[in-house]
Amino acid sequence: MSSWPEWLPLNTQLRPLSPYGAPQLPAEAILNTNENPFAISENLARALSQRIEVVARNLNRYPDRDAVKLRSGLAKFINGLSATDFTEANIWAANGSNEIIQSLFLAFGENGALGFTPSYSMHPLIARVTNTEWIDGDRRSDFTLDVGRAIGQIKERQPALTFITTPNNPTGTSLSIGEIESLSKSVPGLLVVDEAYAEFSDETSAVTLIDRYPNVVVIRTMSKAFSFAGVRLGYLVADPAVVNALFLVRLPYHLSSITQAAGEVALEYQGELLGNVATLVANREEVRRQLEALGLVVVPSKANFLLFSGFDIPAAELWKGLLDAGVLIRDVGLSGYLRVTIGSEADNNLFISALTRLLK
Ligand SMILES: *Cc1c(COP(=O)(O)O)cnc(C)c1O
Repeated sequence: MSSWPEWLPLNTQLRPLSPYGAPQLPAEAILNTNENPFAISENLARALSQRIEVVARNLNRYPDRDAVKLRSGLAKFINGLSATDFTEANIWAANGSNEIIQSLFLAFGENGALGFTPSYSMHPLIARVTNTEWIDGDRRSDFTLDVGRAIGQIKERQPALTFITTPNNPTGTSLSIGEIESLSKSVPGLLVVDEAYAEFSDETSAVTLIDRYPNVVVIRTMSKAFSFAGVRLGYLVADPAVVNALFLVRLPYHLSSITQAAGEVALEYQGELLGNVATLVANREEVRRQLEALGLVVVPSKANFLLFSGFDIPAAELWKGLLDAGVLIRDVGLSGYLRVTIGSEADNNLFISALTRLLK
C-alpha cells in the first residue's frame, strides 16, 4: 500500500490503490498485453498521414463533439459483421474502451456493479476510481460461468450494471449467445458485454440482442483485432437511450480530430486490418498444441491469447525466466497460471523454445 503525504487531500477510495501497470519492458517478443503483433501496412500508414495532414489544417478548431461520421462508420462496420441495422444513434466512441467503461460507471454506477472474477482487472479498478461499489461474482474452477448461479448472485445483489467479458480476459473462455440472452432477461439494470476480443471468436455477438433487449450494452475496441492499440479508440453499441445518457457525462470534445480521422481511415481499410485475424486464430491453435505437447494445461480460448498452467515452478519464476530469454508474457496474479498473447510466428517460436528450455 502506498503512503501518501498528510497534506494531500486524496480521495479516500483512491488511497489503497496502485496505478494500472502491466510492465512495459523491452523484450524481443512482447506477448503481455494482447496487442496485435502485426503493424499496419505501408499503404495504410500513408493513407493515415494523408488524412491527418488534411485534418491538421483545421486543428485550430475543436473536433466534431459528437463524432458523427466516425460513429456512423462504426455502425456500418457492426451491421456488416452481425447483419444488424444500427445507426450512429446506437454508437458511442471514446479514447479506448476504458473510457467507455468509465463513462458507464459515471452515468449508471450509483447502485453498484457486479462482474465475475477472474475477469478484466480494469472493470473493478475503474469502478473504484469512480466511487462505484464493485461486487465480485464467481466462476467455476475451470473459469467457465455457471449461468444459473450467476443469475442467483445478480438477483441477490441487484447491481445497476452487470459486466460479462466474452471471450473473457484473462481466461479466454466464452459465453454462447443463448447464455447471454438468459442473463439479459435476469439483470435488473444494464448487462454490459465487453467484447474486446469478439473478432477472434466464432460466437454470435451480443449486438444481435440489442433490438429485443435494450438493456444490453456491448463494448468493442480497435485495440486488439484492428492493430490500432496506439490510437486509443473504443466504442459501444447500445440502445439510443444509453448513448443519450452518455452524452451527459462525456467531456466536451473528448475525442480529438486526429483520433476520429484515424478511426475513419481504419474502417476504410477494415478488410486488410482484419485479414490477420484468421492467421492469429490458426497460430493460437498451433501454440496451444505445442503447450500441450510440453505437458501443460491450456484453458480453451476464443481470443488472441492463452492461459496455461501445469508447470511446477512458481509462475513468477517462470515469467522471469522467459523475460531473461527475451519473451515478455503476463503474470495475471492467478496462482499457477500465466497468460501469453499470440504473436507473430517468430515471437511464438521464441516463446515455445524458451519455455521448452525452462521446463526441462
Ligand atoms: C484489452 C481490453 C480492452 C481494451 O481496452 P482499450 O481501452 O480499448 O484499449 C477492453 N476490455 C478488455 C476485456 C480487454 O482485454
